[in-house]
Amino acid sequence: MTPRRRAAPAGGALRARKGKGRTTGSAKSRSVPTRSEPPESATTTIDLDVRTWTLAAAETLEHLKRCIRINTVNPPGNEIALARVLAGIFDGAGIHRTLLEPATGRAAIVARIPGDGTQQPLLLLAHMDVVGVEPAEWSVDPFEGAVRDGYLYGRGAIDDKGMLAVNLQAMLLLKRHVIDAGGTLTRDVVFAATSDEEAGGLWGIDWLVANHPELVRAEYATVTPRP
Ligand SMILES: [Zn+2]
Repeated sequence: MTPRRRAAPAGGALRARKGKGRTTGSAKSRSVPTRSEPPESATTTIDLDVRTWTLAAAETLEHLKRCIRINTVNPPGNEIALARVLAGIFDGAGIHRTLLEPATGRAAIVARIPGDGTQQPLLLLAHMDVVGVEPAEWSVDPFEGAVRDGYLYGRGAIDDKGMLAVNLQAMLLLKRHVIDAGGTLTRDVVFAATSDEEAGGLWGIDWLVANHPELVRAEYATVTPRP
């Protein structure tokens, strides 16, 4: 599977445009809103400076290393260990999250940044488990998260912990630079990290949809496409 390569902080939930270097309301939203105004009156503009993006990239890399260092080879998966780390990061950021344990050692974690309901939610989806390793084929420890010559090596670096780290960073950036700055999202942005994608499939997104559909109901979702 090939993940998307780039973090998109907006995720379609807000409109990014070049502006004054901080989160502001649009000219329209600064005027007194009336009920007859079109939905774009709720639009928040965001423009982060280069330093902020550089720090965000470094933070994403650290989160990815941390994800890789937690062995979630499936079977058995043991994704709960990684889910707990993600829960701690969301708690620290003040983002509401729900941690579920569908079976012993398996996990689903769903976090949500509420929007104003103008549009339906956007779901950022990734899975926490990885396939097994063949140690003889590796030149580095697959669970170290080593960086060599500008590349990060590790089991799951691409499938799917890279996606996971990017989704996490998108949530953190939205919280810090939109919500905490007094801005508004036009739709909820929902982060979901699931188990059991690489083998079995019993305790993954299917379980989540069947048992907690209200947590992940969305108009759009970002997923890792099959090649
Ligand atoms: Zn995968």
